[in-house]
Amino acid sequence: MDMIRENLMDVERRIQQACLRSGRERSAVKLIAVSKTKPASMIQEAAAAGMLDFGENKPQELRDKYELLPKNYRWHMIGNLQRNKVKYVVGRAVMIHSLGSEELAETIEKEAEKKNLVMPVLAEVNMAGESSKQGLSPGETEAFLRRISSMKHLKVMGLMTIAPMTEFPEENRVYFRDLRNLAVDIARKNIDNVNMYELSMGMTGDFEVAIEEGATMVRVGTGIFGARNYGAL
Ligand SMILES: *Cc1c(COP(=O)(O)O)cnc(C)c1O
Repeated sequence: MDMIRENLMDVERRIQQACLRSGRERSAVKLIAVSKTKPASMIQEAAAAGMLDFGENKPQELRDKYELLPKNYRWHMIGNLQRNKVKYVVGRAVMIHSLGSEELAETIEKEAEKKNLVMPVLAEVNMAGESSKQGLSPGETEAFLRRISSMKHLKVMGLMTIAPMTEFPEENRVYFRDLRNLAVDIARKNIDNVNMYELSMGMTGDFEVAIEEGATMVRVGTGIFGARNYGAL
């Protein structure tokens, strides 16, 4: 009875099938295990099953888990990031998936310069225009990237989106497809220091559709660690 290992095997099998359906290499899709709210013991269980990429959405939680756990684990910042908490993340996370404002970019740039490193980031795009969500509108994304492209301690690696909550993953296909098309359009502009290698899209409910539409990173929490209990924290 090793729930996390079994869940990982199940998610892995579904990723492989989605890759087969869409003619993609399995190696083109990175699975990120979203460990937010979950204890270190569960993260170590996932690591024992071969998972080393973890997603967190709270800066202090990412910092604490980074400090507690082995240094070969890779931490992805996937949640809303306030400027005064950037210091917890830069130097610990391998990537910030949730860059949605110039002010935040400036703060990351300064912190990365101070720590003498280059921070890989993704621009978060709010594809469905949901007012409850952060992120750039598709129409402003290219201009945003041009404005931050001179920041030498940021490295834009691609785009990220959080699709709407839905019971029906097919409903999100259009947002994944549109994000990919946006990345293709931006890549064609050859903006200095702006790469469109990564598309971070798809969660437990819709990662297979996201892979079919070109996701290079899927962020799966519930499907690996089980339901989250925010009330218990
Ligand atoms: C929580 C979270 C996920 C994982 O959600 P699940 O539905 O549990 O897979 C993915 N991406 C972001 C940005 C999240 O905050």
